[in-house]
Amino acid sequence: MTTFNELGLSDSVIRAIAEMGFEEATPIQENTIPLVMTGRDIIGQAQTGTGKTAAFGIPLVEKTDFQAPNINGLVVAPTRELAVQVAEEINKIGHFKGIRALPIYGGQDINRQIRALKNRPQIIVGTPGRLMDHMRRRTIRLQQVEMVILDEADEMLNMGFIEDIKTILEEIPKESQILLFSATMPKQIEDLARVFLKNPELVRIQAKEMTVPNTEQSFIEIHEKQKFDVLCRLLDMQSPELAIVFGRTKRRVDELYEALNKRGYAAEGIHGDLTQARRDSVLRRFKEGVIEILVATDVAARGLDISGVTHVYNYDLPQDPESYVHRIGRTGRAGKSGLAISFVTPREIGHLKQIERITKRKMVRMPVPTINEAMEGQQRLAVETLMQAVNKGDAGLYKGLAEELLEQTDSVTLLAAALKLLTKEPDTTPVKLTEEPEFKPKKPRFDKRKPGGPRPKQTGYKGSKPQGKRSKKFA
Ligand code: ADP
Ligand code: MG
Repeated sequence: MTTFNELGLSDSVIRAIAEMGFEEATPIQENTIPLVMTGRDIIGQAQTGTGKTAAFGIPLVEKTDFQAPNINGLVVAPTRELAVQVAEEINKIGHFKGIRALPIYGGQDINRQIRALKNRPQIIVGTPGRLMDHMRRRTIRLQQVEMVILDEADEMLNMGFIEDIKTILEEIPKESQILLFSATMPKQIEDLARVFLKNPELVRIQAKEMTVPNTEQSFIEIHEKQKFDVLCRLLDMQSPELAIVFGRTKRRVDELYEALNKRGYAAEGIHGDLTQARRDSVLRRFKEGVIEILVATDVAARGLDISGVTHVYNYDLPQDPESYVHRIGRTGRAGKSGLAISFVTPREIGHLKQIERITKRKMVRMPVPTINEAMEGQQRLAVETLMQAVNKGDAGLYKGLAEELLEQTDSVTLLAAALKLLTKEPDTTPVKLTEEPEFKPKKPRFDKRKPGGPRPKQTGYKGSKPQGKRSKKFA
């Protein structure tokens, strides 16, 4: 791993990155930043969540003149949410250097944008349609642009923006540096790169082998309010030897393990706020089996190596696929198979699909377990306990007592009563849990334009002619 100090960045940028809490560069950052600093055009291909924004944002800020009277850098992004997000990140990176990035997107009052443009931001982050609008009105001039970034190029292609992008690229000075980022490389993007990029270097970060083959993965679609009862039913049905329940926040972890205790489960919680001593003791008791259920946040669980975990329950879906993989990696270790069950609210189904896409594994939909199923699970357990005692054959001392009882009551009634006592019946002790807000996708993709739909024909725009084919080949 490379720290940002090793990448030859300026002090103001290093400070900003430290303030953002980044410690090490991600692989795409480590590989692209030095290349971009030397002036190369880049094609960066890496999955979502790998840190592409800073991979271009850092060198963009480094190379932007804070005194530039005109637009120096241009980022083109598919949606307004992404434009806003990218502009925010660039503003953070450029904070100490005095670099300002302005998001420009459809749906916002254009006059307001025109006023904001008067503050002379050095960098514009725009969606293609609105950028073209400003170009037509001459409220954005790209003649002084030195660096252009196409973010999520494949997504822009899917949304029907490819012709707009070409028009924009034809407007910028021929010698400007172009960086193209995309999770996938469809042919049309390759073609675009061939035409507009100059001898680009391809930086490709292979997706990590992300999934754990021994873990059976399921999900249950339920509402937030049902989650706790359903968790209890699952625990009753499946009687895990050692289970980890993941919650999204510290509060959730605290409330969950206390609620579980109220219903008679041996549970404890760990999260980042606990002292090291406390965490160690909880973990030790979990490994010894004194605690059967560990409730944890992602942070607390990172790097834990606990063998023998049979079940992972995602009470809340994790924010990103990477955490999902970490979580389910807690189970099914050392050749043992494990079971991972995720609770998904109806609105989180899209997020689940994204996790499936990235881990390249399907989760099997599981019906909401019924109280009867939970009951049967516990009865089965009671029978097992009883039969183990029978097989052990050391109940000789109790035989006299049994014979006496059988004189008063028939054997079936007697055995049924014994089984009832052995069975942990579904507990409905009321518990109070604070609702967590549902997972909010980081980058919701709603733009006014329908994905893949035809772009309205642009009229009246007189862009300059292509300034010669920019380039030839991938390096
Ligand atoms: P991508 O564009 O590849 O999908 P993002 O740039 O949106 O990824 O980054 C994903 C998340 O990772 C963001 O929350 C970002 O703040 C964080 N991140 C990026 N780089 C780093 C880093 N070097 N260290 C820690 N977190 C990082
Ligand atoms: Mg991105």
